[in-house]
Amino acid sequence: MKIVFHRDYCRVYSSDPAAAPGRLEAVLEELRGYEFVEPRSASEQDLELIHTRDHISRIKELPEIYYVALLAVGGAIMASEIALLGEPAFGLIRPPGHHASPGSSWGFCYFNNIAISIERLRRMARIKKAVIVDIDLHYGDGTANAFTGNPDIVYHHVALGGSEVFLSDLASFLNSIHECDIIAVSAGFDRHAEDWGEMLETEDYREAAKMIKEFSEEMWG
Ligand SMILES: [Zn+2]
Repeated sequence: MKIVFHRDYCRVYSSDPAAAPGRLEAVLEELRGYEFVEPRSASEQDLELIHTRDHISRIKELPEIYYVALLAVGGAIMASEIALLGEPAFGLIRPPGHHASPGSSWGFCYFNNIAISIERLRRMARIKKAVIVDIDLHYGDGTANAFTGNPDIVYHHVALGGSEVFLSDLASFLNSIHECDIIAVSAGFDRHAEDWGEMLETEDYREAAKMIKEFSEEMWG
């Protein structure tokens, strides 16, 4: 598995909790030993795959945020490219994106990293069907809005609850998918026992990752 990461993700680009100092550094510690790859910034054209020009202009007025948000989209694009080559990729990326809709954003999100990376592959006809699983505590309204009315892109926010609810909902969702070209995971960890959600232990995330890995192996060998 490759880790997509850029040191500028560690920049404190705003005063929101997602941008707090020290967050990514703690994750980096855990990921020692993996191969890291560095993404480039996305282009404005990439943003336009999902977002309106008005929304892009509004974020552009915040240059520090705009810079790191473009880099986050670039990270998701790189992760999707690696995945399409058949290797799992983990994007250690911020700012997050699942609350970014085509024409607006909130919840510490600016551009929808995952939605852009999936839509980019779809427009290039390199994928037809995609699955986006959101394990964050919060519903990814932005991602859902981005693909409303598109039956080829299935968005699923895993049911809220403890370990059993979480894992059984994820399992039955994955079982319901018989055809897809890529699986993307919106991996916020705020359901953790020591975060806002106070629902899951680290082991539950390990189990979820295992299920998704097995799904991929069954789907694409
Ligand atoms: Zn969240």
